[in-house]
Amino acid sequence: MHTIPTIYGELAVPSLPVAGQDQRYAVRRIYCTGKNYLAHVREMNGDVNEPPFFFQKPADAIVQSGATVPYPPATRDFHYEAELVIAIGRRGADIPRESALDHVYGYALGLDLTRRDLQNLCAAKQLPWEAGKAFDHSAPVGAIRPVDNGGHPLDRRISLTQNGVVRQDAALADMIWDVPAIIARLSQSCELYPGDLIFTGTPEGVGPAQRGDELAASVEGLPELTVRIA
Ligand code: MN
Repeated sequence: MHTIPTIYGELAVPSLPVAGQDQRYAVRRIYCTGKNYLAHVREMNGDVNEPPFFFQKPADAIVQSGATVPYPPATRDFHYEAELVIAIGRRGADIPRESALDHVYGYALGLDLTRRDLQNLCAAKQLPWEAGKAFDHSAPVGAIRPVDNGGHPLDRRISLTQNGVVRQDAALADMIWDVPAIIARLSQSCELYPGDLIFTGTPEGVGPAQRGDELAASVEGLPELTVRIA
């Protein structure tokens, strides 16, 4: 974490390590894709005819791999969601699907940590999702593997283990909006910049995390993401 001096003290700039490089990737925004795998929509009793959508988490919710995540306040149903994360490397608005992958700097593993009880309460009352999704320490992200060093690992599987037990294991190809579609659609709504992370949605198998849990998310070829819940 780098800090800059300000009139009220020091401000930490969220950033991530990059595999094979000394320089870090400074994080500007965190976008997330919701309901992007059919099997996950079904397990949440969602409408399979509704398209995916986007929401955000604050950039300072980033947690580094290997760190400890405090069990959050105000919830009794704290869930893990393993997701592939896109790191944007080139600015663009209204990006065509055909050239969308040219805007990807690299990929990482992410956990879209969720206060499921608050998310469900917000949804039932038609309120924004921030209480369920955008809390402190809600965005663990692993090291980024740049495309020029690892390509686009979109034909692989994503998995999550909880204390060594496999809870999630699905093909990234099962995304409803694939990576080019996510970039094309999001860039129609918000101009994308280097430093923007996009969580691509979680497959089925989400569940509650408990204090003391070790969570590990992996995609073959990407740096593993591990966190412990305190
Ligand atoms: Mn998610």
